[in-house]
This record gives sequence, C-alpha cells and structure tokens, in this order.
Amino acid sequence: MNNRKIIVAIDGLSACGKSTLAKGLASRLNYRHIDSGSMYRAATYFLLLNNIDLSDNAAVKRCLSQLEIHFKSKGSRSQLYLGGQPIDKQLRSQEVDSRVSQVAAIPQVRRKLVLLQQEMGEGKGLVMDGRDIGSVVFPDAELKIFLTADLDVRTRRRMKEVTQNTDLLDFETVRENLVMRDQIDSTREDSPLKKTADAVVVDNSNLSPTEQLEMCLVLAQIRCD
Ligand code: C5P
Repeated sequence: MNNRKIIVAIDGLSACGKSTLAKGLASRLNYRHIDSGSMYRAATYFLLLNNIDLSDNAAVKRCLSQLEIHFKSKGSRSQLYLGGQPIDKQLRSQEVDSRVSQVAAIPQVRRKLVLLQQEMGEGKGLVMDGRDIGSVVFPDAELKIFLTADLDVRTRRRMKEVTQNTDLLDFETVRENLVMRDQIDSTREDSPLKKTADAVVVDNSNLSPTEQLEMCLVLAQIRCD
C-alpha cells in the first residue's frame, strides 16, 4: 500500500485525540509512533522529582543535562524510558498535568527534546504528535494534520483517560486544566501551537476514532504514492 516512507505530523489542542489517531495511523502504515507530549511530561516529572525551581534557569539547565529519555519500540508501539526505567502512569498525574505547559515553555527544554525528535525522524516512517511537529520539528513533513475538537468533548475524553489512571477529578477541574494548557501552549514565545498553512484541519468532535482514522489514512496514502 505505502510505496515510500513519509513523516506524518499531527498537532492540535490538548485531549483532542492526537495520540489515538497517531497510534492508529502508525499501526496501519507499519510506522513508528512517537507521542512528543510524553517527552515533555517526562522532563516535567524529572524536574519535579529533583525539586527544581522552574524559574531558576541554571538549575533547570543542570538538571536537564542528566535527563535521559529514550523509546523502545514494539512494532508501531513505543514505550518511554526515563533513565533506563519504563514510565507511563506517572506521566499522567495531576501534578505533571498542571506543570507540563510551564516546563514546555522553557527554551532549553524545547531545544533538547526537539533534537531528539528530529533524530527519530531520520529514517522517515514515523508518525509524531504534539504541538510544534509540523511547524518546528518537521517543517517538511509530507503530511501535516491539525486536529481540533469542541472543548466539552475534549474534557469528557480527558476525564475518561484520567479516571482510568485512578486520579478522581471533576469535570470543571479537568476543563480548566485544558483551557489553561491550551492558553499557555498557544501563546508561549518559543514554538507556540499553531496551524501551518499546509496542514489539513480535522475537527473530530463528531467523528468516531475509526472514522477519523480512515479519513487520515486516505490522506497518508495519497502522499505515499
Ligand atoms: O500531548 P500532551 O497533552 O500529553 O502534551 C503535554 C504538554 O506538553 C502540552 O500541554 C504542551 O505544553 C507540551 N507539548 C509541547 N510540544 C509538543 C508536545 C507537547 O509543548 N510537541
């Protein structure tokens, strides 16, 4: 089906289903999937674990030099390892959720993670989701998708994800966290979330995961021919 390998960049607001789409596309195209948000979450977790004052640039820089993130792939699935240990659940905690956008706005953090992300794209055959993938990490990606969905729909999706991870939160708290993160992510100076002119916009508020996957697969196949 896919003749040449491409890079698929998926960007969009928080909790609009980017990772679900990215995983589905990677699995169907037999590509690797990288959730770049998990890297910002891992950096946040690491800085918090080391009690770093996020406004202290020198301390952030020192701590970042110890940060070791890599992924192990099993087919299209990738598991994040922090300092040799697999982590997952810790990355979705309320504490990480509430600080991650602040950490992601720190230029040193972005520089380090963007370089790692670009290395992962060297062989193509990659689906990466995040906020700046089509604009900064892979500006030449063959397919760029900008995902969006209604705020209440996104809040319900995030609630479901959070509840599965045993943090019991109410709708308003989750909604406020999404609004806050979208605001910081879209207005920060370094690599803000934005739709590039060549991105295809997909509003999935009324689409099932299967419908959005089939639609985006067609877009990918056109670019693979
Ligand atoms: O995608 P997810 O919600 O897990 O991302 C967590 C946070 O990481 C985002 O709110 C954003 O602040 C940051 N992020 C980013 N650039 C990316 C991916 C995520 O700034 N490429």
